[in-house]
Amino acid sequence: MTTKPELVAVVDATPRCEFCFGPRPCPKHPNVEPLSVVTSHEVPPMHMLAQAHNADLETVVIVGITKDGREYFASSHPDAAESMYHLQRGIYKLNRIVDGDDEAD
Ligand SMILES: [Zn+2]
Repeated sequence: MTTKPELVAVVDATPRCEFCFGPRPCPKHPNVEPLSVVTSHEVPPMHMLAQAHNADLETVVIVGITKDGREYFASSHPDAAESMYHLQRGIYKLNRIVDGDDEAD
């Protein structure tokens, strides 16, 4: 008789370092404080993922490009329409930032 391994969801809410995703406070980056600013500079994906983790999000939709140029998409929401709504809201917010109408939130 075989038994199936039990699936266990591990939810680790420990705040993460924006540079190495290690638990905060991070011994490798003890003097780094996260900034919440709009910038025109490129930001490493790890920073954005750590900030999203630290924001304690209820839902997340991720769009990315792999290093070899492939598209990456993932959504925590099971409903495609709801995921598309969040993507459209993100496009709306980005347009407002680009237009200078909304720099925060
Ligand atoms: Zn670190």
